[in-house]
Amino acid sequence: MKNKILILGGGESGIGAAYLASKKGYEVFLSDYGEIKDQFKKILKENNIDFEEGGHTLSKFSNISEIIKSPGISNDAKIFSSQILKNVPVISEIEFASRFNRSVIIAVTGSNGKTTTCSLIYHILKNSGLNVGLAGNIGNSFSFLIADHDFEYVVLELSSFQLDDVLDFESYISVITNLSPDHLERYNHNFQEYVDSKFKIISNHSSRNYFVFNYDDQKINQEIKIREIKSKKISFSLKNNINNNLININVNNNNLMIPLENLSLKGSHNIQNSLAAATVAKILNISDNNIRESLGNFKAIEHRLEHVLTIQKVKYINDSKATNINAVYYALDSMKSSTVWIVGGVDKGNNYDDLIPLVREKVKSIICIGIDNSKIIKTFNPFIENIVECTKMENAVKIAYRFAKPKDNVLLSPACSSFDLYDNYEDRGTQFKNAVRKL
Ligand code: ADP
Repeated sequence: MKNKILILGGGESGIGAAYLASKKGYEVFLSDYGEIKDQFKKILKENNIDFEEGGHTLSKFSNISEIIKSPGISNDAKIFSSQILKNVPVISEIEFASRFNRSVIIAVTGSNGKTTTCSLIYHILKNSGLNVGLAGNIGNSFSFLIADHDFEYVVLELSSFQLDDVLDFESYISVITNLSPDHLERYNHNFQEYVDSKFKIISNHSSRNYFVFNYDDQKINQEIKIREIKSKKISFSLKNNINNNLININVNNNNLMIPLENLSLKGSHNIQNSLAAATVAKILNISDNNIRESLGNFKAIEHRLEHVLTIQKVKYINDSKATNINAVYYALDSMKSSTVWIVGGVDKGNNYDDLIPLVREKVKSIICIGIDNSKIIKTFNPFIENIVECTKMENAVKIAYRFAKPKDNVLLSPACSSFDLYDNYEDRGTQFKNAVRKL
C-alpha cells in the first residue's frame, strides 16, 4: 500500500514538499486553509497532485501516514486537535527533503543575517567553481531544489519555524549568526523556547560535523557552556578575529587574512556575516584567494541597508528587512551622520529601550509608518522633538525630505513586520524606493 502524505500549507515549502513527495512515488494530498497562489496551483495541477484550498476537509484526511507542516503553521493550529490527525507524526518540509538529500549541507540560522550569510557562502562556493545550490528560507524550498538537481553542496537558510519539526536532519556545517528575541508569539513568549528551536540546527551532529557560531553573542555563549555539543566548534568574533583593520581567521591551523577595506559589505554586522562565511569557506578548503575575491565583489542584497539614491547630499537607505530591534540596532550603529528614521508596522513585542542610546546619538527626527505607533512615540518622545505619524510611504518620504539637511541620512529601518499596510517587507521597501525616486 502506498503511503499517503498530507501536506498542510500551499506556499513555497508545501508546494516543494508535494512536488518531491509525488516524484518519489507517494500519494499526496495538499490542504490549505487559505488561498493558494496561481503559480503554485499550476505546479500542483501539472503534476496531478490532489489539493484543496479555502479550508480543510477532514473526510479527505483518512489513511494519512505522515503530515508535512509548512513553517507558517503553528503546532497549536486547530487542525492538529482533530481526531483524525491525532497520533499522526508531523514533520517539517526540511526534514522530509533531508531524507532524499545527497548533497553536503551548510545550514545557517540566527535571528538576523541569515540571508546575507547564506548568500555570501553561496557566492564564495559558486565563484570557486563548485556545484552548489541555495534554498530554504531564501528562494526555493529545499524539497524543490533537490527534486530536480544533484548538487555537491547545498546552502540552506533555516528559520526557527523550519527547525521546529526536524528529527533526523543533519548538516555538515551549521552556523548560528546571533540570537535575539523574535517571533516569540510562536514560542509562548519564551525566548528560551525560540533558542532551543534554533539549536536544533546542530541536532544529530557528531565529531565529524562543524558548528560555526558568533562568539560575541551573549546568548549563544551561555548556551555553548551548558549544552553538550558534539560538533567541532569554530567561533568567529569581532573582538578576536579583527586586528589592525585586518580579518584574521584560523581554521585547522591555516590562517586567512583580509583587509577590512576589501570587504564589499560594510558595517559591523556585515563584518560578522563575512567572518561567518569565510570560516565556512575555510572549513571547506576553499582557497584564500577565492574567499578574498568573493567577499570583495559580492553585491549588496535588496532591502538590507540598500543605498537607494543620494539627493541633495542626503543618502536614502532602504533597510525594510529590518523587522526586529537587533537589525535596527546595527542599522543605526552604521549611520555615519544625523539620521531621519522611518520606523513602525506590526510590533512583534519589541522593547525599544535598547535603542535609546543610539537614537539619542544618531536620530534627529522620527517618522512612524505603522497603524499603531504608540510604543515608539512613548519611548522616544522624551528625546526626539520631531516625531510624526503617517500611513502612506510616499508622504513619509516627502516629510523625510523636508526634515533632512545635506549630509544627513534618511533610513527606512522599521523594527516591525509590514503586514498592517504592505503585502510584505519587499513591497514596503519597493514603495520606499519608488517614493524616493519620485522626489
Ligand atoms: P535574515 O535572513 O536573518 O532576516 P538578513 O540578512 O535578511 O537576515 O538581514 C535582515 C536585517 O538584519 C537587515 O536589516 C540587515 O541589515 C540586518 N542584519 C544583517 N546581518 C546582521 C547581523 N549579523 N546582525 C544584526 N543584524 C543584521
